[in-house]
Amino acid sequence: MDECLEKPLSAMAGIGIETERRIQQLGIYTIADMLNYFPYRYENHEVLPVEQLRHGEKVTVAGEIQTEPAIRFYGKKKSRLTIRVAVENILITAVFFNRHFLKNRLNRGTAVTLTGKWDKYKLTITVQDVSFGMPDPTKQIEAVYSITGKVTMKQLRRAIGMALDTYGQHLTETLPEQYRRDYKLPLRREAYAAIHRPETKQQLKHARRRLVYEELLHFQLKMQLFKRRQRMGTHGISHAFTEEKVLAFIQTLPFSLTAAQNRVIKEILDNMKEPFRMNRLLQGDVGSGKTAVAAVVMYAAYLSGFQASLMVPTEILAEQHCQALTELFQGTEVRVALLAGSLKGKKRQEVTTALASGDIHIIVGTHALIQDDVVFHRLGLVITDEQHRFGVEQRRVLRNKGTEPDVLFMTATPIPRTLAISVFGDMDVSVIDELPAGRKQIKTYWVKHQQLERVLQFIDKEIQSGRQAYVICPLIEESEKLDVQNAIDVHAQFQYYFKNYRVGLMHGRLTADEKERVMTDFTDGKVHILVSTTVVEVGVNVPNAAVMLIYDADRFGLSQLHQLRGRVGRGDHQSYCILLADPKGETGKERMQIMQESDDGFVLSEKDLELRGPGDFFGHKQSGLPDFKIADVVHDYRALETARKDASELIAGKAFWVEEEWAALRKYVETSGALDDRKLD
Ligand code: ADP
Ligand code: MG
Repeated sequence: MDECLEKPLSAMAGIGIETERRIQQLGIYTIADMLNYFPYRYENHEVLPVEQLRHGEKVTVAGEIQTEPAIRFYGKKKSRLTIRVAVENILITAVFFNRHFLKNRLNRGTAVTLTGKWDKYKLTITVQDVSFGMPDPTKQIEAVYSITGKVTMKQLRRAIGMALDTYGQHLTETLPEQYRRDYKLPLRREAYAAIHRPETKQQLKHARRRLVYEELLHFQLKMQLFKRRQRMGTHGISHAFTEEKVLAFIQTLPFSLTAAQNRVIKEILDNMKEPFRMNRLLQGDVGSGKTAVAAVVMYAAYLSGFQASLMVPTEILAEQHCQALTELFQGTEVRVALLAGSLKGKKRQEVTTALASGDIHIIVGTHALIQDDVVFHRLGLVITDEQHRFGVEQRRVLRNKGTEPDVLFMTATPIPRTLAISVFGDMDVSVIDELPAGRKQIKTYWVKHQQLERVLQFIDKEIQSGRQAYVICPLIEESEKLDVQNAIDVHAQFQYYFKNYRVGLMHGRLTADEKERVMTDFTDGKVHILVSTTVVEVGVNVPNAAVMLIYDADRFGLSQLHQLRGRVGRGDHQSYCILLADPKGETGKERMQIMQESDDGFVLSEKDLELRGPGDFFGHKQSGLPDFKIADVVHDYRALETARKDASELIAGKAFWVEEEWAALRKYVETSGALDDRKLD
């Protein structure tokens, strides 16, 4: 930005010390700050013909006064003034309350522009604002700024208007002409003028597009350069393995990989070969085959002479993964072992010794893996599954057990791409966006509570034909205790109804041993129905379970419902997810409908983001979402994606670094700190 824009507000004629002080309370100190103080909404005073006016809404009309004002007084100060106005060829009535002093200006034949509430049946406008003369086309859409303290909207609008008039021409262009033409973006100074003083909606839209794109491009350039620098600064392992051997291993798998699995494997292996430390997030819906991907890349680590570890959040999962991996590695030399908290004494000793000597190549475990006495011979790849369950600290400890090992986080919680690329800006992201062929679709039904009896009969039928069922209890916000109480109540009801079946109970207040026992009984088919709080959400695999009943489903986020639904449909049987809900509002209904219609975790998470905001994904304040001035990660995701691609091409290419037309943007990047050691803001 031009230097003169860095001048203080008082550099402008017409802004005195007092006004300057007031405006400073908004955090505006320079002309540039002022121009960048974007409106948060607009007031629409668009003048419309009478037929288009909406009943009960605030509207603006323009016309010529046809009658002298008629005034009635009530008491001392109250009055009602009426005139008739011809708007095109329709005569309407305009009513002014307590503004009889306008009487001398409201003469027959005078042109007026009136804003107020419209009554369609009486053809009457109750006037709030009047201006004389025909409407000013530049005032039809008015910017509304957020203001605090003493400054008034009028003062601020005037000051910004002056800044635009005086300094607008110093807003130098930052995007090359070719770019602007391709994307149909207005000039930078035009965009600033239009965002503050739009003449038409169309113009405003284009201005916003330009400013959003520019902001996101800045953000992406900064992020990507920062990420690149960070990566170059690490000394990672350059894994050396023979690609043919990896391919040969893939051939021995009991299934052929999906295109998506193959793609992410390539992305990961490419990273592993480089001498920098990998820091990658692997997202894939439940059942998309992340474990198989993990197996392949761990095999590559093994081939290059390193050990690999897979850390999962629960003991049950650790066992399941260990078993699955042992089967996949059957025809190889790879030795897989389990290290869980329940492993004690001599057995544990055996595992840790073999790990330290390098006799074990792949270790699967819970956080037992990060204990001090667990020493690796040569740890080269660290994988954590369901990464959001582990704290940053735990991941750091595990990573430090090797010398800059490559790190891969796997998660089944589909994080909307927009959030992933903005929040995990310093991580690379791989996505498995395809399920293996031939999966039976889970049938999802939304039912009201009054139909519970029928649902119970249905569950009965399923159990009679050999299946099992999950029942998830209502979620009570901010109280785990109430969640548990709910589960206990529902468990009692189910046990009463299903006298001939065993009904298990699972919740977070059970001890690890108790949980383990219930889960094992359910896995072994000894328990027919498992009533649970949301603790079963993570990765549990019981292929015989075919029914998932969720109480008060409208209290859960779509992504969470999707996770829960993913607990069934893991075997060959047709599976069902039943959402019990009597949602109050439209959003609730819409969400239940979406659940019935979509089984794509990414679609659902985008929808969640749209309907409930980003808080659901990261918790409100710690969201880590960048604080954009004009862009909105939820609605501008296409622009974000475009900016991401453009930034990466610009950085990789030569033109950006040398050509004059990129000088302004280059300068921005240089001063942003992305190229030096200062921390990214
Ligand atoms: P995730 O961990 O992503 O939820 P898993 O790796 O547990 O998924 O895979 C789910 C199931 O699908 C497993 O039984 C696995 O053997 C199987 N599977 C994985 N990849 C494929 C594939 N490409 N084709 C067929 N089945 C697959
Ligand atoms: Mg998994």
